[in-house]
Amino acid sequence: MKDNSLARKLGLKLKSSYLETDSRFYSEVYPAKAPNPEYICLNKELVKFLGINYEEIRLEDGLKVLSGSNKLRAKAYAQAYAGHQFGYLTMLGDGRAIIIGEQVTPEEDLYDIQLKGAGKTIYSRGGDGKADLSAMLREYMISEAMHSLGIPTTRSLAVIKTGEQVLREDLREGAILVRVAKSHVRFGTFQFGRSAVEIAKYREFADYVIKRLYPNLINEENKYVSLLETVMKRQIKLVVSWQLVGFVHGVMNTDNMSIACETIDYGPCAFLDEYEPSKTFSSIDRHGRYSYENQPKIIKWNLARFAESLLPLINENLNVAAQQASDVLSRCESIYELYYYRSLGKKLGIASSNKDDKNLLDDLINLMAGDKLDFTNTFYALSIEDKEYINKSEKLLSWYERWLLRVATERAEEVKGLMIEHNPAIIPRNFWIEKALQKATSNNDMSLYNDLLSKIKNPFSYDKSYDKYMKVPKGFQDSYITYCGN
Ligand code: AMP
Ligand code: MG
Repeated sequence: MKDNSLARKLGLKLKSSYLETDSRFYSEVYPAKAPNPEYICLNKELVKFLGINYEEIRLEDGLKVLSGSNKLRAKAYAQAYAGHQFGYLTMLGDGRAIIIGEQVTPEEDLYDIQLKGAGKTIYSRGGDGKADLSAMLREYMISEAMHSLGIPTTRSLAVIKTGEQVLREDLREGAILVRVAKSHVRFGTFQFGRSAVEIAKYREFADYVIKRLYPNLINEENKYVSLLETVMKRQIKLVVSWQLVGFVHGVMNTDNMSIACETIDYGPCAFLDEYEPSKTFSSIDRHGRYSYENQPKIIKWNLARFAESLLPLINENLNVAAQQASDVLSRCESIYELYYYRSLGKKLGIASSNKDDKNLLDDLINLMAGDKLDFTNTFYALSIEDKEYINKSEKLLSWYERWLLRVATERAEEVKGLMIEHNPAIIPRNFWIEKALQKATSNNDMSLYNDLLSKIKNPFSYDKSYDKYMKVPKGFQDSYITYCGN
């Protein structure tokens, strides 16, 4: 079948608009052929959202395209980027991810379709370009949970077993994650542009990104300052939403910060069970740089690196540019506070929290840390006024009594409604993800994985069947470790 009619049959309308940018920003490359591809997950809802034909994509021709063995007319490419990794700038690029095109949705929006784990590129730096099934299933689950929680994120269209083994600490089943993003351009892509590409071509790249992601900024007086301000606000909002569900990203390097401000790169991330502000899960984060409590500071640090990369675009006089950028960045903390207390207020049923609420809100967070209360369950218990749970902690009980006095001034149904809307009953807890991955990879048994997945897709609609996933054995979190790059 000719490319055009195959693409039409599958509902794929792919462009390669990124290739309009200077050729140093990418490398054309086709995915490696998967010897024996097989769908393990296929995201029907996302398939439909993208305008892809579900009945066709699930069959052999569709599988071949999404596992990279069937070339389409759109050119496939890997992106170049740099990144501050644990504070040090490195040249990177997609070492194991290949964009097969940008899908034009029925709404005429563009979404990158990227195959993660699809083989080597010129940026692979000694890596094998591959990914293991367990890590890709983990990303699929957590990114779908984030989406269902209403948090901006890259999404997962499919997990495909490749039929070959990959070598990590041991031999594992290889897989591809089909990742969908508004764009994969990162802070690090701008850092790469500033350091490796002359200004005129770098400016063309920045203009491409603005046109694609923030077309409303095109006519701003200084669109690069406006870009900084827009990305700053959205990234801060994103981190606030992580904080308020107890999500630890785990590897907030500047190459893992998206200009579209979606959560990206689900490597060593995890949700907290007990609330421990200094918690990190990642095997390589020995000094706690990317701990839960550091995330707001790190996003500010990362935004400063993004701002530096924009300076020559903002003004040819770098001193003038630096002044303009720091005027924007100086608002980071106040914006964080504003978003944080506003959103935390909503979790506690207060539609518009005011300055006097700050102590009440802070006291809850502090007592949760002091008593190592479960992050998700505490908020959920408050939202349903579960007296049995609340009575278990004296501090929580006396806080609850103060809170009752505060919300007595609000409309009761509104309090209830806000709390149910903002406090999930279920998140993908590490203990249950690990159990599900274990079954999926050692016995080819997807039953637990699919059951958990179906529940985390409806996090705000408690059902009795969620009970088992709301608990984990005591002490589990203390020894739980996550890994990058699997
Ligand atoms: P990450 O920690 O996932 O953000 O990855 C950091 C960098 O390492 C990126 O440039 C990745 O493309 C690259 N990378 C990670 N795993 C592999 C692999 N197995 N083969 C080649 N490159 C990889
Ligand atoms: Mg990355």
